[in-house]
Amino acid sequence: MHLTTVYRALIALTEAGVVHAVHGPGPTRYGLTGEPHHHTFCQQCGQVTAIANEHLTETVRRLAELTGLQPDSAGSLLAYGRCEGCSA
Ligand SMILES: [Zn+2]
Ligand SMILES: [Zn+2]
Repeated sequence: MHLTTVYRALIALTEAGVVHAVHGPGPTRYGLTGEPHHHTFCQQCGQVTAIANEHLTETVRRLAELTGLQPDSAGSLLAYGRCEGCSA
């Protein structure tokens, strides 16, 4: 498959809500949309991990309180750092 075709397919799937884009540093990654979740991103190896929204409801509430920012319903927090493997 041509890369442009893959890209267009991803955009279409993202719009359909089947996959979602994770905009970290470097190339955009795509994940399957299951339960709404947030992401962590390892700045060293680029590993993306999903965290179910229910674990961060308090954080989201505090964010909204402090900044007025309302993450979208699919979960839109992105935390940067180093993964377990890279910080060992
Ligand atoms: Zn995801
Ligand atoms: Zn890592």
